[in-house]
Amino acid sequence: MGKLIVLIIVAVLLVSLVLIKTNEISGNAAYDKDEIFIPVTVHLVKEKSSYGTSKDTEDVFELFEKVNRIWMQGQIIFIVEDVVVSEFSKEEFDKFLEGDIDLIVTRDDFRGGMINIYFARFVNANGISFPAQGFTLIGDVTTVNDFRTTAHELGHLLGLRHVSSRDYLMFKGSNGDILSQEEITLARENVKRFYA
Ligand SMILES: [Zn+2]
Repeated sequence: MGKLIVLIIVAVLLVSLVLIKTNEISGNAAYDKDEIFIPVTVHLVKEKSSYGTSKDTEDVFELFEKVNRIWMQGQIIFIVEDVVVSEFSKEEFDKFLEGDIDLIVTRDDFRGGMINIYFARFVNANGISFPAQGFTLIGDVTTVNDFRTTAHELGHLLGLRHVSSRDYLMFKGSNGDILSQEEITLARENVKRFYA
């Protein structure tokens, strides 16, 4: 009799656990029907001395698979529409790194109305973002994973700021990749405002 009661209690506990888990899953699946796709143009910076990227088109698509794994937390999917080679002179790129933004946005290969990402070898940081103009610059030489740097900078383009917990994507300088529910909500709202 005692054994039967113990068995029933264990069974009830197991069923409750399964119910709780199912609830969690269906809670997260709330975004399932509402994936947001964001078009991106990738620029491979070619410059003869120090700034030229070593990435090629295949590297870019591999990198974005990993970026999208992170951003799937918010059902946000970046679609690389085009990979173009963007040629710069060293002087031009120096000026750009000094803050001459017009130099980029007035170029023929800059695509307005979508995210533009420039991959260069060296950019004085892991990445630099210009949310108002919708573009970001990513270095080949990064202190964290390059796809994490890219996902982080895309977070800035979607209006996210740095956070203090290193497990999170928006922590500055770790491989953290978690997005909070608040960040996901804000990023999704900003996608609609800026890139839809
Ligand atoms: Zn940052």
